[in-house]
Amino acid sequence: MCSQSDPSPPVPFRRGVFSFHEKGATVKRPRLIDLSQEIFEGAPVFSGHPETKIRVADTFEQTRLRYEEGYGYVTETIDMSTHGTTHVDSISHIDPSPGASTIDRIPLEWFYTEAVCLDISGSPARTYFTVPMIEAALLKDDLDIRPGDTVLINSGHYERRWGTPAWLTDYPGLTREAAEFIFGKGAVNIGQDAPSIDCVLTRSFPAHQVCREMQRINTENLADLRPITGRRFIFCAFPLKIRGGSGSPVRAVAFIEEE
Ligand SMILES: [Zn+2]
Repeated sequence: MCSQSDPSPPVPFRRGVFSFHEKGATVKRPRLIDLSQEIFEGAPVFSGHPETKIRVADTFEQTRLRYEEGYGYVTETIDMSTHGTTHVDSISHIDPSPGASTIDRIPLEWFYTEAVCLDISGSPARTYFTVPMIEAALLKDDLDIRPGDTVLINSGHYERRWGTPAWLTDYPGLTREAAEFIFGKGAVNIGQDAPSIDCVLTRSFPAHQVCREMQRINTENLADLRPITGRRFIFCAFPLKIRGGSGSPVRAVAFIEEE
């Protein structure tokens, strides 16, 4: 535990990646880049999902009446889909088998991984990412996919269409073969800056089908990925511990080791 004379907050580290937080040591801190969308009333939701509603549950004016010396507080109630805004899907979201892993049972290590972000930002609306496109993006930025990785895809969708009606109607996504290629390299999680990792046009969700078949996860509705596109970094996006949940909102963050 930190003593009063040591005000440094704990530093996230991973053996061999970040410096240890030792007394007297100079701690090298990663730069944190927020990859998450905000949760707010009226946030865009996937077709058919419930709207996000936020209401004030307690106000300072009300709660001050219950306490002394002017103490009061404010709280809110949030009513939203477990697949609202930036979120991760559990296996049980798409796998009806009795033992399919719910969000509270997926190893924490899957939400704190090394990661790469592929630049497929030139892709047109409502198209599919193929294996050659994934390979070209890896080659362009001299990246590879390693076992345990998260693979993020900058499709250019957030950059071009966030805040417009086209956000929900024009996104591209992975072909079955492209999802199999990425998970086949040992990746545990695929994320995209769009409402789904599957193209808006599909009615069979091939990338989600591959998640079910290969027992892997995906992260959707990421925000602006430009700051980490073409790089390797640490990706952290922990779900809430929702008992039996099929998914959860996450705070997705990239940790970048500064030069
Ligand atoms: Zn989802």
